[in-house]
Amino acid sequence: MKREELIAKYIAFFEKHGHKRIKNASLIPENDPTVLFTTAGMHPLVPYLLGEPHPQGKRLVNVQRCIRTGDIDSVGDETHHTFFEMLGNWSLGDYFNEEAIKLTFAFHHKELKIPLSHYAVTVFAGDAHASRDESSVKVWKSLGISEERIAYLGKDDNWWPADAPGLCGPDTEQFYWKGKSHPPKVFDPKDKNWVEIGNDVLMGFFKDTQGNIREAKQKNVDFGGGVERTITILSGLEDNYLTHIWASAREKLEDVTDKEYGQHKKEFRIILDHIRASVFIIADGIIPSNTEHGYVLRRLIRRAIHYGKQLGIQNFVGDIAKEFFEVYKDYNLPIEKIIEELDKEEEKFLKTLEKGEQLFEKLASNKQSISGKDAFLLFQSYGFPLEMTLEKASEKGITVDKEGFHASLQTHQELSRTATAGKFKSGLADHSEATTRLHTACHLMLEALTRVLGKEIEQRGSNITSERLRFDFTFDRKLSEEEVKKVEDLVNTVIKKSIPIDFKEVPLDEARKSGAKGIFESKYGERVKVYKIGDFSNEICSGPHVNNTSEIGSFKIVKQESVGSGTRRIKAIIE
Ligand code: ATP
Ligand code: MG
Repeated sequence: MKREELIAKYIAFFEKHGHKRIKNASLIPENDPTVLFTTAGMHPLVPYLLGEPHPQGKRLVNVQRCIRTGDIDSVGDETHHTFFEMLGNWSLGDYFNEEAIKLTFAFHHKELKIPLSHYAVTVFAGDAHASRDESSVKVWKSLGISEERIAYLGKDDNWWPADAPGLCGPDTEQFYWKGKSHPPKVFDPKDKNWVEIGNDVLMGFFKDTQGNIREAKQKNVDFGGGVERTITILSGLEDNYLTHIWASAREKLEDVTDKEYGQHKKEFRIILDHIRASVFIIADGIIPSNTEHGYVLRRLIRRAIHYGKQLGIQNFVGDIAKEFFEVYKDYNLPIEKIIEELDKEEEKFLKTLEKGEQLFEKLASNKQSISGKDAFLLFQSYGFPLEMTLEKASEKGITVDKEGFHASLQTHQELSRTATAGKFKSGLADHSEATTRLHTACHLMLEALTRVLGKEIEQRGSNITSERLRFDFTFDRKLSEEEVKKVEDLVNTVIKKSIPIDFKEVPLDEARKSGAKGIFESKYGERVKVYKIGDFSNEICSGPHVNNTSEIGSFKIVKQESVGSGTRRIKAIIE
């Protein structure tokens, strides 16, 4: 089955059941500076999941383009891509698990004709805070799913979101047996022959910071299904890259490399995946650069080139990209612009690589080891990923100071982040002293709001100019005068304590474990910066910040308003 056929069937089925089609939003989130890319169909719907009425109603359906930088390390396997398309349908406070499961099953079983023999599901097993999802089990059984084909899994697998306070709930996922052998009677979710094709998230609860869970005011359902995976299994294949989506790009790559896909699966998959993702990122208005989205794009293109080199080719990126335009003609992709940007970036990278090769030879001659500084120079100025330097060094039988490399990288990132003007993930408009002071004040305010109003509140967005800070967060009523005063006082007390501000750059997991607030989706790299203000605040952020809270001045909230139900906006200034 082709992607357009699957998408058409899916939309028609849910429209028939009262869902309204919503747009396939940009990969660059419009109203959410907290993440770099749209990672799921639910992402643009967050305000509506929290209670704001959606103009198109309570039942919605679409297909959404997504980028998951967190999956880049998995790319190379049969089922994970950096860019993919997600089928999505939602109930915003309308039907709940029973109807959702029945709709999902009807679509899979009746429309797509997936036989029961090849179908299995997971449900939430229950823990100290929420009980096993018996009601979903009952629905699945009523549809003919046997006990052996239901796996009961814990929080890590079947609860969304993993650990944050706020709207949450169990999910129930659907799997297909793609193995060539007869499907086993008992479902084992760890067996790679069972592939997850869809997931109904049942957002029925609200979790406070003590971990107490209560029923949510508005219960939602969020279904997400993978287009690539579904057409793979419907075509009787085991490998996503064997479907029509990749066929012409894959064959072109075989042509230019004079190598077979089957012999070099990993390299082929990474090259094809990264080029397709780059095509769509450029289409949404990004060009290669050294910050944010542009940096992810640059790394994807350069990584594809790197793997191309391993297959013995160069100057190929644009030619492979061209093969995707026919498959995705419904997107009306800006072909010329995409090819131009890809060609420019490849040319630039090849030139630098060449100079880098010469420099490497120089640095490596008559040495036992390449210093961290030199490895960083190769990385920073000549586009050598550390792995490439390691590889080339080991060919020569010499070592590389990896720790020194990471230390140089960290120093550099600090310098470049404070020097770069432009939009930051944190919503900064420029980097004058005034905005820097407000930015630090913003961290203090988030912590103060949490302490005064409760830990459930979450940042939704922020925007800082040299005049004022604007800050949106989840909270469903007006703050009283007393609460406003308390928040101001708390912030000003911390400011007066003259606390030095420092940051460390740590792996994302470590930041998460330390309880740092903030964005848990990493950029391309897996390390993030955590800013600590004494014992008061601990937040993932790209900076910049003042060196000491005493530099901030006196903090004052000047305005508050509602921006849709469940979200408040505060404006504050420094006097
Ligand atoms: P997995 O555990 O396989 O990584 P997931 O739990 O991350 O999947 P969800 O977040 O539930 O997946 O996303 C909904 C659906 O989107 C999945 O059922 C799957 O079909 C598809 N999907 C998720 N991640 C990817 C990816 N990186 N590439 C292709 N399809 C994906
Ligand atoms: Mg995943």
